[in-house]
Amino acid sequence: MPLLQGTVGVEDLVLLEPLVEESLLKNLQLRYENEEIYTYIGNVVISVNPYQQLPIYGPEFIAKYQDYTFYELKPHIYALANVAYQSLKDQDQDQCILITGESGAGKTEASKLVMSYVAAVCGKKEQVNSVKEQLLQSNPVLEAFGNAKTIRNNNSSRFGKYMDIEFDFKGSPLGGVITNYLLEKSRVVKQLKGERNFHIFYHLLAGADAQLLKALKLEQDTSGYAYLNWDVSRVDGVDDASNFRAVQSAMTVIGFSEEEIRQVLEVTALVLKLGNVELVDEFQANGIPASGIRDGRGVREIGEMVGLNSKDLERALCSRTMETAKEKVVTALNVIQAQYARDALAKNIYGRLFTWIVNRINESIKVGTGEKTKVMGVLDIYGFEILEDNSFEQFVINYCNEKLQQVFIEMTLKEEQEEYKREGIPWTKVDYFDNSIICNLIEHNQQGILAMLDEECLRPGVVSDSTFLAKLNQLFSKHGHYESKVTQNAQHQYDHTMGLSCFRICHYAGKVTYNVTSFIDKNNDLLFRDLSQAMWKAQHPLLRSLFPEGNPKQASLKRPPTAGAQFKSSVAILMKNLYSKNPNYIRCIKPNEHQQRGHFSSELVAIQARYLGLLENVRVRRAGYAYRQGYGPFLERYRLLSRSTWPHWNGGDREGIEKVLEELSVSSEELAFGKTKIFIRNPKTLFCLEEQRRL
Ligand code: ATP
Ligand code: MG
Repeated sequence: MPLLQGTVGVEDLVLLEPLVEESLLKNLQLRYENEEIYTYIGNVVISVNPYQQLPIYGPEFIAKYQDYTFYELKPHIYALANVAYQSLKDQDQDQCILITGESGAGKTEASKLVMSYVAAVCGKKEQVNSVKEQLLQSNPVLEAFGNAKTIRNNNSSRFGKYMDIEFDFKGSPLGGVITNYLLEKSRVVKQLKGERNFHIFYHLLAGADAQLLKALKLEQDTSGYAYLNWDVSRVDGVDDASNFRAVQSAMTVIGFSEEEIRQVLEVTALVLKLGNVELVDEFQANGIPASGIRDGRGVREIGEMVGLNSKDLERALCSRTMETAKEKVVTALNVIQAQYARDALAKNIYGRLFTWIVNRINESIKVGTGEKTKVMGVLDIYGFEILEDNSFEQFVINYCNEKLQQVFIEMTLKEEQEEYKREGIPWTKVDYFDNSIICNLIEHNQQGILAMLDEECLRPGVVSDSTFLAKLNQLFSKHGHYESKVTQNAQHQYDHTMGLSCFRICHYAGKVTYNVTSFIDKNNDLLFRDLSQAMWKAQHPLLRSLFPEGNPKQASLKRPPTAGAQFKSSVAILMKNLYSKNPNYIRCIKPNEHQQRGHFSSELVAIQARYLGLLENVRVRRAGYAYRQGYGPFLERYRLLSRSTWPHWNGGDREGIEKVLEELSVSSEELAFGKTKIFIRNPKTLFCLEEQRRL
């Protein structure tokens, strides 16, 4: 039980003394500088991104962690994966692994470590190998289409992902289901300086041979594409060409046919080409500004590739049909509106393509009905975000994190309570911050911010982001977790950092100011019907299938659910799913902003520790008894401290421990004897025991 022996700092923050932010950070830093990137809080794993390949992974480490229980070896993701897998197998308990942390903290790498650990230890038979391969190969495909280089992370996931891996009663994998959340579609048409579009575009241009490029009517040079940032096309350490081959081969392993792969690439190429369709001012005969296409070649090529009349596409891009019960009115779009329509189309095509790919993978890895018995869910989802300018995306991401925090606190407390019950120890009430008031502020069915936003989006008449904000100000002026310029003025408080078009929410992790500009638009996420109808007219089977609402026979006047409503309901499904499983947590931390090994910025880590609620976590964990251990291993470690138990002891483990602690005069207040474990209230008691051992 090398819990404290030969360790750097404490391996479990529950043993931290004193329990304050400063010592927590010091402990993480000390460990990080000694290449100890994993630390526990009870059964939670904190992982600090090493930004280097450490020699702690691979088959021999997998074998080692498979043979020991959780606290017997150094903290490691493998230890957590092992506990989760073993309890799934032996105790028939569905598990979920929740991985959180900010961009670049190492969530996706952690999720891959969990998956590869489980793949290595579960079912060794030949027939499960292909299932494992399919599950593992879903990663490179989703990363190619859903990840991008950002300023913070060269391989940043721009979507949230939850994957259920399903097992039979022996613990062999049968297949899985992936759910994706909120792809950052805006990236398709625009990227910040120093960032790239989704990887696949660069993979494709760099990796496709001349014949494929010709078939897709593409040029290899990335600088020719309006949708690809010109200042950055290559990323250090990323070989786009070889990744292209890897994606194609992963798709084949999963079960995509050659024809399907070709169609996926055609739709990808179509998005790139759409960006180059240049819209210009034209005037109608009546002098009203309208738009037109500068050079027809682009639309013609798109038309040829996907079997679409280029005139139809042109018309759909440059005009809009308003339909009422009685008549159809076609109006010309001005150039700004037409560019907006073109970009909306590109974003929609790509977003739907991504969802199609996820569904297609699910079809391949789907488990037959009635087969599955146990499930392990792995959640790799965006962490709490505070940017300089926070918009609708940050609002929903932070809402999701608020919900995850709720699950976390509730489930950690519940698990503690259950352990006490199992062990027959009385439960002491723990005070904690209950964030349901913030969750409610956002998600309440009639009076939450999301409901208000939907109401504004659906309301006839002139609606705008500012009418939405006015409504919030009116409704929440007295809410303890809501602030805005208007409510502040009413209370004679002046905060010059908050603009007039902003509101602020006091999240569990801190205050975030959101700018309402584009909230209405992003929540509506509307695509003019002319565009979906044009896409549906394409001969291309995949493209056409992405726009079922374009079928005039099926077109209904009913609005699709708003982006906010969709997100809220998928979060609700996720929460239900998580509550039904036993949770295991990995909290990822980014040590510096430069993606560099060896640098630990205390300020940066302090903020993340707050967002992750680490101190609160330690507090809850040790509210009752900070430390617990099975009788056997505990006696083995400390029996040398008593003459009654050393060198020989023939009695029971529990009695032996009683002798040792009695001899050392440990107060009985400090201890509780459970059915299988000894519980110690204060970490200091454990330190005393350790010190005695060293004497
Ligand atoms: P995002 O939210 O942007 O998707 P993330 O939390 O998923 O971020 P990762 O992509 O997992 O972050 O990690 C970023 C990079 O950090 C990886 O590409 C890798 O270079 C490095 N990294 C993360 N974890 C490890 C690890 N355990 N060992 C070595 N390198 C790592
Ligand atoms: Mg990621």
